[in-house]
Amino acid sequence: MRASQFLLPTVKEDPAGAEAASHKLMVRAGLIRQLAAGIYVFLPAGWRVMRKIEAVIREEMESIGCQEMLYPVLNPAEIWQQSGRWQAIGDELFRLKDRKGTDMVLAMTHEEVVTWLAAREIHSYRQLPQLWFHIQTKERDEARPKSGLLRVREFIMKDSYSLDTDFEALQRSYDRHSAAYDRIFARCGVSVRRVLSDPGMMGGNIAHEYMAPSEAGEDEIVFCPKCGYAANVELAVAGPEPALAASVAAGRGGEGPREIHTPGRRTIDDVAAFLDIAPHELMKTLVVVSEQRGPLLVAVRGDHELHEGKLRRIVGEFRLATPDEVVAAQGVAPGFVGPVGTSLPVLGDESLRGGLFTGGANKADYHLVGIAADAVVGEYHDLRVVGDGDRCPECDAGLVGERVIEVGNIFQLGTKYSKPMGATYLDEQGAEHDIVMGSYGIGLSRIAAAAVEQHHDEHGICWPAAIAPFQVHLLVVRAADPVQAALADELYATLDECGFEVLLDDRELSPGVKFKDADLLGCPVQVVVGKRAAERVVELKPRAGGERRDLAAAGLPAAVAAALAAS
Ligand SMILES: [Zn+2]
Repeated sequence: MRASQFLLPTVKEDPAGAEAASHKLMVRAGLIRQLAAGIYVFLPAGWRVMRKIEAVIREEMESIGCQEMLYPVLNPAEIWQQSGRWQAIGDELFRLKDRKGTDMVLAMTHEEVVTWLAAREIHSYRQLPQLWFHIQTKERDEARPKSGLLRVREFIMKDSYSLDTDFEALQRSYDRHSAAYDRIFARCGVSVRRVLSDPGMMGGNIAHEYMAPSEAGEDEIVFCPKCGYAANVELAVAGPEPALAASVAAGRGGEGPREIHTPGRRTIDDVAAFLDIAPHELMKTLVVVSEQRGPLLVAVRGDHELHEGKLRRIVGEFRLATPDEVVAAQGVAPGFVGPVGTSLPVLGDESLRGGLFTGGANKADYHLVGIAADAVVGEYHDLRVVGDGDRCPECDAGLVGERVIEVGNIFQLGTKYSKPMGATYLDEQGAEHDIVMGSYGIGLSRIAAAAVEQHHDEHGICWPAAIAPFQVHLLVVRAADPVQAALADELYATLDECGFEVLLDDRELSPGVKFKDADLLGCPVQVVVGKRAAERVVELKPRAGGERRDLAAAGLPAAVAAALAAS
């Protein structure tokens, strides 16, 4: 490809409002353009990256026996009503009506279509297992699209589905996908962690996410550097804390809870400082109103935060009580609420178990020292945010928190879709069973964005070789110089014949502009044809750093191959 004829509209300025490096660089390097919030055009260089990612994914899916087909984006609402997701998913689902007034859906994943197909085409255990995939545009009405390709409303995803006779067979399909995913991310040059995740709206039991570490990520995980435990913070649990030593309270409170005057001290930090104790010696108590269970008292340790998602899984939708509701329930304003003597049910975090704490006295300007958690907590649950410094539930080492980009996910759906949609098979004895399903997704543009987040410097992108828009960026320092131009043309043809993908920058622009564009676009190997062209000597420069050196033009194909292998 010749740059003089290639649409590569690089720009100097970061796009307005862009925070993520991938957003800034992919716009500046001329890879993408935003049509509307969360909706992007892929320009030629950006689309080349997507095509390469797609090729890697397709190869690895085919290598595990997964069959490619294509499911439509436009779905009748009927199948989404059968699966229950029409009702269960909120405004993220694009809903529309056709000209006859029939409800339709723009699909965000394809469990419904796959199950519909399975119900019609799969009849016998002899046909199982089946692995099906497609690479298709998805639509999702994100509330706050942002960060370039990281949170969008239209995206391209590979989603695959496994159909099996039972859970043991599903585990085998799941393991095959897991191995294929490891190879896909490795080949695309994206480092990932496989973490336990919350199946959420996909339903089912076991689920894992593939998370690419990046400061720009919107998800957070914790992992254990010692044993490899890793989980989304939505699901992460921490190992048990040693119950606070009885001596802590004994030294301060003696027998039973004792009132202590804490004038105007409402926050954990204020109370801890005033009493000269650590925040973890305090019990933080909140009044919440659950739709299902009414007002509740929820307690976590003073140094911990309530995880709203975890509480929601236990009590359903809830909200924090208003100050008036707190006074009505506890007889005191927020800041002095405690669990002793309350008439509300008390839910406590597991880390409180067996401990003695200082908490609100339900009396203005007073706290209680020496509250035995076991005497006041009615139900213990895992309720808190687990993060940096918490203990690993598997091996007790310190957990590390990390921001990540979700680039893939795998779910054991079980019979969540096959049961309501009637996808069954007959076993050897002729008995009918629900098909056991799995679902596996990978976002192509998320991989591209994660690769940029993980591989860039202050000058631009440093693409992993396998997904770079071109392998070689061949620059002519002075395109108007016939000697330089002739050697560049010759090398362009030679490299092309050797099977390399080359972008030849033959534009009559200043060398500075061309070097800047090459660094911005980030092809892994740069070759510069300059003032030593008459001697048939060129310069080779790996984009990601490493030795830049002059070499004879004749040795270029071998040197490029070596540089790509090393990149
Ligand atoms: Zn561990």
